[in-house]
Amino acid sequence: MREAARTSDRAPYLLRARLPGWEALGPPVPLGQFPTPVTEAPELAPALGLQSLWIKRDDLSSPIYGGTKVRSLEFLFGAARAAGAREVVTLGATGSHHVLATALFAVQEGLRVRAVLFPQPPTEEIGLNSRVLPRIGVQVRAVSSVVGVPWAWWREKSRQPRPFVIPAGGSSPLGILGSVEGYLELDQAIRSGSAPRPDCIVVPAGSCGTAAGLLLGRALVGENIPIVAVRVVPRVVSNAGRAMRLAREGARLLRSAGAEFGGRLGPLEWIHDAAGPGYARPTDGARRMVETVRRLANFRCETTYTGKTLVALERPRFAGRNVLFWNTFSAVDPGPVERGNEGGLHG
Ligand SMILES: *Cc1c(COP(=O)(O)O)cnc(C)c1O
Repeated sequence: MREAARTSDRAPYLLRARLPGWEALGPPVPLGQFPTPVTEAPELAPALGLQSLWIKRDDLSSPIYGGTKVRSLEFLFGAARAAGAREVVTLGATGSHHVLATALFAVQEGLRVRAVLFPQPPTEEIGLNSRVLPRIGVQVRAVSSVVGVPWAWWREKSRQPRPFVIPAGGSSPLGILGSVEGYLELDQAIRSGSAPRPDCIVVPAGSCGTAAGLLLGRALVGENIPIVAVRVVPRVVSNAGRAMRLAREGARLLRSAGAEFGGRLGPLEWIHDAAGPGYARPTDGARRMVETVRRLANFRCETTYTGKTLVALERPRFAGRNVLFWNTFSAVDPGPVERGNEGGLHG
């Protein structure tokens, strides 16, 4: 893989100063533009019944394809590089942002990509993935039902030579360090006075990596701002046990790299009834929110994650509060991709 990605323009990692064992971690591969800004949405706030609404702009993490997934991929690709991998394998639903982000940045870094895709309800992302993934040379194994996933996933993971395995959503103890870094960025913005200290942080929860990383980041800086995870996927995928396990294993990883923090992780709050009829099934509220955000704010949202999460902000528990929304959805659809060539891509 390349030493420095052409599109990366990031400040030094804040985590690095806290980790004497940074090098042993398999240092991350810079992919995105960090820190992402924290901006106010002064017209959207009153429309949702909030005192104020600030946005952590992870949507702006890359001009190729932004969102929070860029953060986890930096760390996961660091480990892939340390392992000498030439190929990565991952999985997700047919409209998965994670599979798309993994594919775009892996190809840029000269890695081959294979992906297991399983069906989901129709959304715009399905069309996007079906156009982009073949164009950039991703080898897709589509299964006709989630029942087929374990077998197909096992087959892909067992290929020789062994590929580097990236779990669903990029949510592993290493992957969540990306969102730990994100929390450190927010903390720095608050300390420098460029953003106010919010009453709470609200984040969509799918595979829980983003929420777990924020929880761990909060513990690392010794803060106690409430973090609210809004679940938009089935409970077997997204739940407190999974998020806490990821955060604890992430904490172990940080300690093994020399981080000093004794603090408890503290609680993660949950909203469990925001998904409506189910994962990726648009609700009327989420559709309305896409329009409202388009009219009143300078970012965009979609109906699977961020739209449903913003609808949850209209609930009485947030009325009159100062909320920070962690914007996980890319501001842009993927543009042209420049391929790395070390992985022998063709086609
Ligand atoms: C993946 C994703 C999430 C969920 O993040 P997890 O770390 O999987 O919980 C939220 N929003 C968007 C837009 C995503 O693509």
